[in-house]
Amino acid sequence: MKQDYYEILGVAKNATGPEIKKAYRKMAIKFHPDKNPGDKEAEEKFKKAAEAYEVLSDPDKKSRYDQFGHAAFEGGQGGFGGGGMNMDDIFSQFGDIFGGAFGGGFGGFGGSRGRARVKGGNLRIRVKLTLEDIANGVEKKVKVRRKVKAAGVTYKSCTNCNGTGQVMRVTNTILGRMQSASTCPTCQGAGETIDKRPKGADSNGLEVNEETVSIKIPAGVTEGVQLKVNGKGNAAPGNNSIDGDLLVVVEEQQHETLKREGTNLHFDLYVNFSEAVLGASKNIDTVSGKVKIKVEPGTQSGKILRLRGKGLPSIDHYGNGDLLVHVNVWTPQNLSKEQK
Ligand SMILES: [Zn+2]
Repeated sequence: MKQDYYEILGVAKNATGPEIKKAYRKMAIKFHPDKNPGDKEAEEKFKKAAEAYEVLSDPDKKSRYDQFGHAAFEGGQGGFGGGGMNMDDIFSQFGDIFGGAFGGGFGGFGGSRGRARVKGGNLRIRVKLTLEDIANGVEKKVKVRRKVKAAGVTYKSCTNCNGTGQVMRVTNTILGRMQSASTCPTCQGAGETIDKRPKGADSNGLEVNEETVSIKIPAGVTEGVQLKVNGKGNAAPGNNSIDGDLLVVVEEQQHETLKREGTNLHFDLYVNFSEAVLGASKNIDTVSGKVKIKVEPGTQSGKILRLRGKGLPSIDHYGNGDLLVHVNVWTPQNLSKEQK
């Protein structure tokens, strides 16, 4: 079981944004790797707190988490479920947590920081799912056209900023000489520039490649849910860059006969007058194929038969919804004189 995000940060479920931020700031300081060198447990806590904050500080992610729990971010290769956030993601959060205060003293991890790692752009695709897919969960293979580093491309350290990604500027003001850092204009902060560009690659050494990506979709998803496949978006130039993510938006296809309402399903069953009077055995659709149900003799039109557990699973694994069969007695029209 994954630990609850609110629990990790030690805040109440109804904690406000500033409270969440404050709690996270405290944990980040306490378990910061620079303060606990070599302490795997502290590092784990540090990462967990960052992951929890990443979700709870984002109104959109928070509301999905409140609704679906951890399952909201499952599926895909990892999402948060697999590897958690990497250190670069975590440190890139720090700007808004600590403001400038931490900039110099507290930035370093493994002594290699200083420049932001460039991340490629995210790609977004939609996948259409049938109710059957949603009922069982499904693995979808999709073709994605994404930018990747061209074969044979090489990058070299930027000579303008010596690979730091930043240039220092000294200006004279009435208060004295002021030094300020700004993003290197040559490499846009990446610290690297292209060295060898193979044929067919763009000016960043990237080329578009079609790739088949497999996406694991958990059972019980709903229209509009967004899943993330880490690292399957566009690549960014440079040896130290990280690939963007592939965002997968769920689209629900309408079923021919079943209507979805949360985890419950509805089916309209039509019986004729004599079937309603005498009873009948009828085939109905479910997400796991047809089943036979019995209509009792003397059934009234409008009666609802509830097939427990034959609905859809909830994404929180709280069990299945029901299938509600609405019995409609079909009244014949346009009778001949004889039939009347
Ligand atoms: Zn540069």
